Amino acid sequence: MTPETKLPKVGTTIFTVMSQLAAEHRAVNLGQGFPDFAVPERLIDELDRAMRDGFNQYAPAHGLPQLREAIAEKSERCYGHRPDVNAEITVTSGASEAIFDAVHALVRPGDEVIVLDPCYDCYEPAIDLAGGVAVHVPLDPVTFAPDWEKVSAAISPRTRLLMINTPHNPSGAMLGQDDIAQLTALLRGTGIFLLSDEVYEHIVFDGARHESILRHKELRERALVISSFGKTYHCTGWKVGYCVAPPAMTAEFRKVHQYNTFCTFAPAQSAFAAMIRAEPEHYEQLGAFYQAKRDRFREQLLTTKLKPLPVPGGYFQLVDYSDVSDLDDAAFCRWLTTEHGVAAIPLSPFYETPPAGQRLARLCFAKNEATLDEAIARLLKL
Ligand code: PMP
Ligand code: GLN
Repeated sequence: MTPETKLPKVGTTIFTVMSQLAAEHRAVNLGQGFPDFAVPERLIDELDRAMRDGFNQYAPAHGLPQLREAIAEKSERCYGHRPDVNAEITVTSGASEAIFDAVHALVRPGDEVIVLDPCYDCYEPAIDLAGGVAVHVPLDPVTFAPDWEKVSAAISPRTRLLMINTPHNPSGAMLGQDDIAQLTALLRGTGIFLLSDEVYEHIVFDGARHESILRHKELRERALVISSFGKTYHCTGWKVGYCVAPPAMTAEFRKVHQYNTFCTFAPAQSAFAAMIRAEPEHYEQLGAFYQAKRDRFREQLLTTKLKPLPVPGGYFQLVDYSDVSDLDDAAFCRWLTTEHGVAAIPLSPFYETPPAGQRLARLCFAKNEATLDEAIARLLKL
């Protein structure tokens, strides 16, 4: 039987498509965002210990208490706000699960959800499945900054939720204090909830401050703040994330979470709890760690025909390829993978309507130097 599709706009994600193409063509895979270097030793040891110590059955649905405690401490240390361990923190199977749960907990049929394009590809399918309507507001095509007047103009009596992402995938752009002030004024007095996707929270550069919504009292009272250990601890395949939200919102969030996954992989929760406490320098130095990679990669890219854009945060480098090709971005990334052996991600799948003539591709620099060197050697032949 062939079911009528519930997601007519959805095909296979661009990340799967490009990783498969990269494997088929033995390309250096700078497409899908994942590190190719090791997970911290301590984390592996702690995972091993957790499994041997018997953390192998269901964890409490909301997350192991010691992990929620460690998240609360980290939040206080980084953002000056300590969420309530019992009522405000839920551990999830990656940020993806948290985003899905949050949207399903809040969005009712016919509700509108404002997303800022280009936006991460799992947002809209979640909204569609919940019966909501995604309202796309474009970010600036050059700086990827939000235009808060455009966001304001998109608000209607049906607006239920606004989704933001800082540092931003794919551009690396970050919200500043001025954005926070404008966003606060915009939402004041409305019933609009805020979902803040902060999975790259510790990957920020040049001394900039990550404006976590957890820092900002007025905003966090209406917000679900979502993060992922996959980015912070180089283990995207472990799929552990979390959501911090005020008690009444968390209660609704947990109604979905408990029937979606019930709980998250228990041994990893024990390992992260130990790791966060024992080695805070890991997340404190993550910005410097990736900044060195960003700077080295950028210098190398400047010797090619690709033009690197500024990268304030995250682990993706956008490049303008207009000196190389006039293909659209999907065709260019395919050609780059099959003909030049470097896989990249086009930006168009992150948009409802991609800007006409945009010639940008995304390269992931969360890679060993040898991997990036090999990619550059190939890109020099363009
Ligand atoms: N949001 C953004 C912006 C991401 O880049 C990603 C993953 N790369 C996610 C959410 C999903 O995170 P996870 O892998 O923890 O589900
Ligand atoms: N978030 C990763 C990226 O942007 C991909 C995650 C996935 O493959 N679903 O590359």
